[in-house]
Amino acid sequence: MLACSGCGMHEIFYRREHEGVSLCRKCFVDSVETKVRRTITGRQMLELNDTIAVALSGGKDSVALLRILWKLERRYPPARLVALTVDEGISGYRTEAISISREVCNALNIDHVVISFDELFGVTMDDIASKRNELQPCSYCGVLRRKALNGGALSVGASKLATAHNLDDEAQTALLNVMHGDVERILRPSSASIKTQARFVPRIKPLAEVPERETTLYAYATRTRFQSQACPYGHEAMRGDIRIMLNRLELKHPGVKHTICRSVERLSESFEETGAARVFRACSVCGDPTPNDECEACKMLKTLKACSRTSSESVSVQAVRSR
Ligand code: SF4
Ligand code: ZN
Ligand code: ZN
Repeated sequence: MLACSGCGMHEIFYRREHEGVSLCRKCFVDSVETKVRRTITGRQMLELNDTIAVALSGGKDSVALLRILWKLERRYPPARLVALTVDEGISGYRTEAISISREVCNALNIDHVVISFDELFGVTMDDIASKRNELQPCSYCGVLRRKALNGGALSVGASKLATAHNLDDEAQTALLNVMHGDVERILRPSSASIKTQARFVPRIKPLAEVPERETTLYAYATRTRFQSQACPYGHEAMRGDIRIMLNRLELKHPGVKHTICRSVERLSESFEETGAARVFRACSVCGDPTPNDECEACKMLKTLKACSRTSSESVSVQAVRSR
């Protein structure tokens, strides 16, 4: 039997190709938690006494993130965690995710808040998807969810908003932006650089260096329940193609996803250093920070003829306290 490269004792559970190590279940779980802790400290994501709102969709990445932050918080207090779940109004899909999220929060004794598109924007993803729109459902969903999460984080007094984007998500988004020719998004300043904006909760991505495969395995290894059913509206087609291409590349050239993410980060940092990064101001409709006159969400809601009750301050949340 081949022994674990970490403890030298137990049976191998996972081979981490880009580091050339094979780990047992316990050493694998420890290594993921250590990686997240190093990402948080290396990128200075947290400060003492932060209240961290964790975006919890109920999927593998977000339940893994919540569990890891919960463990770190117990070891390195005092931070406060609150979980935020967005109900986009996708029938037959979100109900299960909300119930799993609630179950995970109850088990970890973490406050759980649900924010609904319907209450906040007066429109659901089912409404949006049933109309013939200019963009695909995911484009609306992504922008509106960002706004809902920022509003939810403000409403619970969070000083940071943690999202479960993993290494694969980040590498895919980087290439997607290049393929869409979206230079502004490629050079978008990091959340930390716009943290002084009013009504903006800085975002952190503690899983940014953990591959998707490892967040899935982490959830299995820690026996954490998560939703595996896919959204009926699917993902953007080009993202799916990029995902396949990147996975093939990673097999042949381990570490390529890390390299792509680092390159884009360096580009963005260099651009910020030039001082040419865009200035943020208050959206003329809702007051949320935006580099334009109107924020993306308000523009979308206008086109959907539902631009009412959009202010982050009007977020009405259904809080489920588990302790
Ligand atoms: Fe929203 Fe698209 Fe994700 Fe479905 S797949 S939850 S529509 S972003
Ligand atoms: Zn081991
Ligand atoms: Zn707005």
